[in-house]
Amino acid sequence: MVPVYSHSRISTFENCPRQFYYRYVEKRPVETEGIEAFVGKRVHEVLERLNRFVERGQVPSLGKVIARFRALWDETFQPERVRIVRAENPPESYRESGERCLTNHYRRHYPFDRDESLGIEQHVSFSLDAEGRYRMQGIIDRIARAPDGAVEIHDYKTGRWVPTQQALDQDRQLALYQIGLAARYGDTPMRLVWHYLLRDQTRVSTRTPEQLDELRAATATRIDQIEAEQSFDPRPSNLCGWCEFRDVCPAVTGTEPEPLAADAAPAATAPRAGVRPIATDAPARPADQLRLL
Ligand code: SF4
Repeated sequence: MVPVYSHSRISTFENCPRQFYYRYVEKRPVETEGIEAFVGKRVHEVLERLNRFVERGQVPSLGKVIARFRALWDETFQPERVRIVRAENPPESYRESGERCLTNHYRRHYPFDRDESLGIEQHVSFSLDAEGRYRMQGIIDRIARAPDGAVEIHDYKTGRWVPTQQALDQDRQLALYQIGLAARYGDTPMRLVWHYLLRDQTRVSTRTPEQLDELRAATATRIDQIEAEQSFDPRPSNLCGWCEFRDVCPAVTGTEPEPLAADAAPAATAPRAGVRPIATDAPARPADQLRLL
């Protein structure tokens, strides 16, 4: 069967092959999630609900939106399952940041009539090549038709960090979605739109056909590299603080964990010589990976 990749899956490999192995090859069960991912999921759920109401011509009040977020938080927050790396920050501060994301978004876009909704939480599945060898999938937060007729691919971010315009002009995720939507929207101009909710900032970028061709080729090459990978070495970094596998990772513990099953072991499981336990403090920032595909 042809494996199906996603931006998130490829990014995981690029950040740390061992994390990729545990998450996607071995599928090691995880019992906790980082508070940043937890907040991101709750905000996305509320925004999806808000967007569906708006699509039906019903705009709920900001009070109702925030009440929904609080109710969802109370229903799903389990202190023993949610990891807080920055221990100096109480859970309430993260809850407030989620509320701020929603409030900023609501105030900026109310009454939500600037564009026409074409899709909410849209699953896209496509091939990078004509032969269907490089299969990709993803979930687009929202697709909309702007007043000038362009199709916009919207993405909501809940982290603090806002990348530079230069970085966004090179960003892979939304550009891949544009490739995935090409068959649906033909030659209609498309824009990539990021909403940095906590910072109340919006960024826009576009791609030329040549850039999309380059992206296709580069992504296919990266998939070939992943498919050929044998050792899945750990790659310690500041992101280890947020890694759900740090309790078993040899870069942290100094020893290889037991494989989950005999046939699930990587081709080379012995820790690399020179892989030392890493410092656990002062991580830079978590990956903004909200939904793993
Ligand atoms: S703890 Fe760090 S090195 Fe180990 S799997 Fe996670 S990200 Fe990779």
